[in-house]
Amino acid sequence: MATAENTELTDAFEEFYRNYYRNEIGELAQKYPTDQKSLWIDWQDLYRFDPDLADDFRNKPAQLQDYAEEALRLYDLPVDVKLGQAHVRVHNLPQSEDIRAIRHEHHGNLISVQGIVRKATDVRPKVTNAAFECQRCGTLTRIPQVAGDFQEPHECQGCERQGPFRLNMDQSEFVDAQKLRVQESPEGLRGGETPQAIDVSIEDDICGEVTAGDHVNVTGVLKLDQQGNDREKSPMFDLYMDGVDVSIEDQQFEDMDITDEDKKDIVELSNEDGLYEKMVGAIAPSIYGYDQEKLAMILQLFSGVTKHLPDESRIRGDLHMLMIGDPGTGKSQMLSYVENIAPRSVYTSGKGSSSAGLTAAAVRDDFGEGQQWTLEAGALVLADQGIAAIDELDKMNPDDRSAMHQALEQQEISINKAGINATLKSRCSLLGAANPKYGRFDQFEPIGEQIDLEPALISRFDLIFTVTDQPDEEEDANLADHIIQTNYAGELNTHREMNATSDYSEEEVANVTDEVAPTIEPELLRKYIAYAKRNCYPTMTEEAKESIRDFYVDLRAKGQDDDAPVPVTARKLEALVRLAEASARIRLSDTVEEEDSERVIQIVRSSMEDIGVDPETGEFDADVVETGTSKTQRDRIQNIKGIINDIESEYDEGAPIDVVVERAEEVGVDQSKAEHEIEQLKQKGEVYEPRTDHLRTT
Ligand code: ADP
Ligand code: MG
Repeated sequence: MATAENTELTDAFEEFYRNYYRNEIGELAQKYPTDQKSLWIDWQDLYRFDPDLADDFRNKPAQLQDYAEEALRLYDLPVDVKLGQAHVRVHNLPQSEDIRAIRHEHHGNLISVQGIVRKATDVRPKVTNAAFECQRCGTLTRIPQVAGDFQEPHECQGCERQGPFRLNMDQSEFVDAQKLRVQESPEGLRGGETPQAIDVSIEDDICGEVTAGDHVNVTGVLKLDQQGNDREKSPMFDLYMDGVDVSIEDQQFEDMDITDEDKKDIVELSNEDGLYEKMVGAIAPSIYGYDQEKLAMILQLFSGVTKHLPDESRIRGDLHMLMIGDPGTGKSQMLSYVENIAPRSVYTSGKGSSSAGLTAAAVRDDFGEGQQWTLEAGALVLADQGIAAIDELDKMNPDDRSAMHQALEQQEISINKAGINATLKSRCSLLGAANPKYGRFDQFEPIGEQIDLEPALISRFDLIFTVTDQPDEEEDANLADHIIQTNYAGELNTHREMNATSDYSEEEVANVTDEVAPTIEPELLRKYIAYAKRNCYPTMTEEAKESIRDFYVDLRAKGQDDDAPVPVTARKLEALVRLAEASARIRLSDTVEEEDSERVIQIVRSSMEDIGVDPETGEFDADVVETGTSKTQRDRIQNIKGIINDIESEYDEGAPIDVVVERAEEVGVDQSKAEHEIEQLKQKGEVYEPRTDHLRTT
């Protein structure tokens, strides 16, 4: 239908192309159709050419798209090519919509949204024009596939009978198709809001370009899809987008606006005395104590520098930290506080709330058409370039356990399942909390044995703290005062807010509240962190290098005796460097000074005292961390096995347990320890019980 308006619009696009996209079209003509199938148009260019035309494109993209593509087909090309099926893809709209704010008014409009790809199906061919071959007369009946469901012919175009038909693949037309679920980015959410998502269908050349976990900006047309099925239709509709363009946005904190005013405040704060104490005071002020842990959390928020080496490998800058502790000691509270401070963060429990769990999964659910495999991102992928705060880490499922090693060290998660081979990025810091295996800590057993995480995983944490809840009169009194004061401040505040005629003066309230308020406003701290991470890439001074080196070498020297345990492994060395860089970033410094290395050596020492020491000798022992068994304990196990070996031949039915325990006591192993180790030997299959309470070695 060539009306005047139609020709006018096609002409307008042709003129636009000539003025703005001559070179791009020339390039497309060279590459079409193997290497390029689309002409990308910046909406802002269209606006500069003709604001009305650009606005029309946003309001009725479906019609305008046709004219734009028609104009492209009519364009006078320098080479002899036809751009028959080329797409015009308009992107870079002036603003993007919040996913949660999309309403039916947007129906049919070209909009853009920002978010993270939560799910992505694999790319599969979809029929766009189906050729049905009549089994009676052989005539082909072509049915264009437009709407959601598969359309079959009512009758044959040749013999007019109702088939039967066979789909002729060679004569049908297909296009690659993929479906994505784009979810609001974690940094846009405050106070534990549940993220909302929108599904996006994409076709042809833009398929397979993004995967779960990618941060994207999607431009597309908002569509409605009726709920319910064929027999029972619902009056309710779902929203989805027909994607025109999907671009990856790999910038950190793109949403964080830092004004010049903010910058002034940040630099001022960085020069204040007692900055580090202030930082500690800014973390979970309602929780008493834990200065070391809070400093560690601050270091984690700032994180070290991700280093790129000339051989193209990288060393992670993100710090992983684990708190293992007795119940009711404030771990969860601290975790959720960090979640609120971190510019980008995800908080979840080890059990995971989605089918993707903590890492990622290939799942088969009704998201894809039919039973298509879908790649779904879990917490560590969604927290890419941020912090994943994971409570009850010990409760994570077995699939996550195995993927976790790779996620923490390589900061990637590979999925190889059902034909999906994907590597997802998980460049995040993990802040984990866990309970001891038996609920509470036993101070006299190695930590490694008391947590339900395998040693190889534990050793990937840069810092591990144990939190024990032991009665201590002075500490208990302080803690009680603190908690009561915090609650009292809350009472006063609420009382004044709810009571117009409150007897408490504003001053009174302010005095009490100030004592338990964070030393830095959370909003400022959040910007401070984003600013530091964006602008500071500190390098080590000679002094800093030397003190880290000396600390490490000294510790290792303690392990040179044949008998002495290996005190630390090289992993700790990288941890020290990362921590020192984070420490420098806190004061926005470009260099890592000795004060930084000393600060982190102290915190590493304290973390090692918590976990890396052999609890029986007080010596540092890497084996406690790396294998879960201390050297003393290993020796003891060998001793007990030796005893069983020595005496089993004296008895027909194997060595009686009571005799073994007796002998063990003679060499200084007390009864409960001996019984414990016997149990361990049995579990490992190194001894067995031929008869109750009798042992034999295998
Ligand atoms: P966990 O996760 O370690 O089991 P929670 O974070 O759930 O413990 O804390 C339980 C409660 O005890 C919280 O209300 C918390 O405020 C309080 N609490 C525990 N330890 C402290 C502390 N050191 N200072 C202030 N409150 C604390
Ligand atoms: Mg808890």
